[in-house]
Amino acid sequence: MTYDVVVVGGGPAGSLTSMFLKRAGKHVLLIDKATFPRDKICGDAQGRKLAASLKDLGIYEDYTKLPNVAIWGIRMSSPNGTQIDMDLIDRQTGTPGYVTRRQDLDNYLFQTAKEKFHVETKEGVAITDILFDDNGAITELQCQNVETKETFSLAAKLYVGADGANSIFAQKLDLSVPPEHFIVGLRAYYKNVEGLSDKIEIHLLKNLVPGYFWIFPLPNKEANVGLGMIIKDKKEKGINLVQELKDSVAKDPLFVERFKEAELDGEIKAWSLPLSSHHRKNYGPNYVLVGDAASLIDPLSGEGVGTSSISARHASKVLVEALDKNEITEGFLKNYDKNLWDEIGKEVKADYRIQRLGAKFPFLLNRLMEKASKNPEFRKKFEQLLPYAEGKDKIGKWSFIAQLFK
Ligand SMILES: Cc1cc2nc3c(=O)[nH]c(=O)nc-3n(C[C@H](O)[C@H](O)[C@H](O)COP(=O)(O)OP(=O)(O)OC[C@H]3O[C@@H](n4cnc5c(N)ncnc54)[C@H](O)[C@@H]3O)c2cc1C
Repeated sequence: MTYDVVVVGGGPAGSLTSMFLKRAGKHVLLIDKATFPRDKICGDAQGRKLAASLKDLGIYEDYTKLPNVAIWGIRMSSPNGTQIDMDLIDRQTGTPGYVTRRQDLDNYLFQTAKEKFHVETKEGVAITDILFDDNGAITELQCQNVETKETFSLAAKLYVGADGANSIFAQKLDLSVPPEHFIVGLRAYYKNVEGLSDKIEIHLLKNLVPGYFWIFPLPNKEANVGLGMIIKDKKEKGINLVQELKDSVAKDPLFVERFKEAELDGEIKAWSLPLSSHHRKNYGPNYVLVGDAASLIDPLSGEGVGTSSISARHASKVLVEALDKNEITEGFLKNYDKNLWDEIGKEVKADYRIQRLGAKFPFLLNRLMEKASKNPEFRKKFEQLLPYAEGKDKIGKWSFIAQLFK
């Protein structure tokens, strides 16, 4: 057994975990079935949570130089079409969000792990099975080279499942996510979109709430355009999401002019989003799960890269302690779950409540946007609630929502 830790999955969760582990002097192997750069279906928006992890690792500056658009605010519309523009981040003192294609972001993180942090990596290697002993500890990973089909096995002191929404770790551990905590999302790239700005756009279209339609600006008048909806709601409402996306850009009065000359670039693709409103077990005797494999996507915003980075930080810290103290036990690794949820739990709970409120009472969303468009004081409070806002954690969300009834 030569490795301290084998990390499976080289997306943001896995690449960041491996960098934190390597920085602490651990012998780590990072494996992915893909060869980088590879695409990942996503809205491509990143906020202050990822920024904090990248600053911690000293790799923030180079990240901001990737092809991107810096984001300072949000344009939002309600189901009845009331639209408002909000500045969320102080342009003098704040850290902007960015829209960076995941193909570029993930390649940057993977190559940085490999070249700057000297993490040992294997690309084009899929984990095809995980073997466990009678106590539920992993004994080996069975691997296959995707190209040559050559098979081999790997063992380590500790394992990290960072293998995304369809995680083989979660499957083997029987950790399913109920359909009310799963979103299906579509992503399309469009060229030549009019009216893009330095704001991300979230449109709460009538058929989708509490899901939404988004337009996230990329350089050169390109945009990441997509929508997401909770799988249970989608089934109940019988919505065809591809048609909904095509109809929205072609017919919705808010977008029709802006997409008149626009061109779909590539295919419309779908992927799933396991939400943190379902607190999935994320540790065992000698392993932890991070990122989507641990079901950590925010139930309101759909932001998962930021929480992936938070889980990477907490997981690596506990794994390093476990190795240093020779405490490789389920009881010790449970500290990861505790530390992670101490940090994200309050926000997840509040965001889930707001998501449910929007689903039950969609008229409230119209009221919210109308009131925010007319009342600057109310709008300030509303701005603090939004994904990527600087003061998001500081506000009592429920007392604010109650003002809608006044
Ligand atoms: C439509 C959509 C829109 C989204 N929009 C946003 C957004 O705008 N902002 C945001 O923050 N989040 C967004 N998310 C969520 C975000 O994409 C995820 O939370 C994020 O990718 C999680 O990162 P990860 O590293 O856990 O998983 P991933 O990025 O999925 O990486 C997992 C890696 O594991 C590898 N892998 C999988 N199985 C195996 C195996 N058996 N063996 C070896 N390797 C394996 C894969 O090749 C992959 O590289 C969106 C998601 C979707 C679906």
